[in-house]
Amino acid sequence: MARIFCVANQKGGVGKTTTCVNLAAALAARKQRVLLVDLDPQGNATGGSGVDKRALTRSVYHVLVGLADLAAVRVRSPSGNYDVLPANRDLAGAEVEMVEIDDREKRLKKALAGVADEYDFVLIDCPPSLSLLTLNGLCSAHGVIIPMQCEYYALEGLSDLVNTIKKVHANLNRDLKIIGLLRVMFDPRMTLQQQVSAQLEDHFGDKVFKAVVPRNVRLAEAPSHGLPGVIYDASAKGAQAYVAFAKEMIQRVKTL
Ligand code: ATP
Ligand code: MG
Repeated sequence: MARIFCVANQKGGVGKTTTCVNLAAALAARKQRVLLVDLDPQGNATGGSGVDKRALTRSVYHVLVGLADLAAVRVRSPSGNYDVLPANRDLAGAEVEMVEIDDREKRLKKALAGVADEYDFVLIDCPPSLSLLTLNGLCSAHGVIIPMQCEYYALEGLSDLVNTIKKVHANLNRDLKIIGLLRVMFDPRMTLQQQVSAQLEDHFGDKVFKAVVPRNVRLAEAPSHGLPGVIYDASAKGAQAYVAFAKEMIQRVKTL
């Protein structure tokens, strides 16, 4: 049965999509069967996996509103050796349409149930909000991976997310837990970043992943080539950090 993880942080541009795409490709390279679910109307995880989001006839939107089966909508990443449930701007309308549907926060969970035994990992890339889409992600998952930058305001934003996760755990999904915090876009030359990083370790202990993803331009360039960073330039520091993170995840799921 697949272990299902949501990559979430309601803050925008903190590295959720980069984390999802690179973790997916790095896990696939270690012979794990992976499905990447793009839950963001921006479709960045779709594009970053080499799938043309403009050419899609069906997407995760159709799955959520019940117009198509997940098995018929998923596609293979041409670059990354994993499957993608793709998204594009169609998904922006889903929230409003889903208001009419029963159990609207559990639509993705239901859809994933049919394919869970085909994968070792399902990774869900959430949009930068605590919206119905993110709620669908949280209701489907065994755990949440929180990528964060070691900045002053990062800790403040974290408490909103942690509270949301607690509420979902209490009311909608008893399986849900925080798997860990991943430090991304890290710049060790900045004292503030080192301080926030140390605070995170003090406060969250071994919930902080040992892998630290540095700020690395090769990771930022990769999506414009439709490639995960770990494939675009495997020798880059950022790629190596995501490979280390994938190994850590494989170890961590054994303890869950
Ligand atoms: P959104 O909230 O809009 O979905 P996000 O949290 O998914 O954003 P990303 O899209 O992964 O964040 O990253 C934001 C930007 O930062 C992108 O341009 C990405 O290429 C770049 N980026 C992500 N991680 C790194 C890194 N480690 N080093 C350098 N650039 C990075
Ligand atoms: Mg994103």
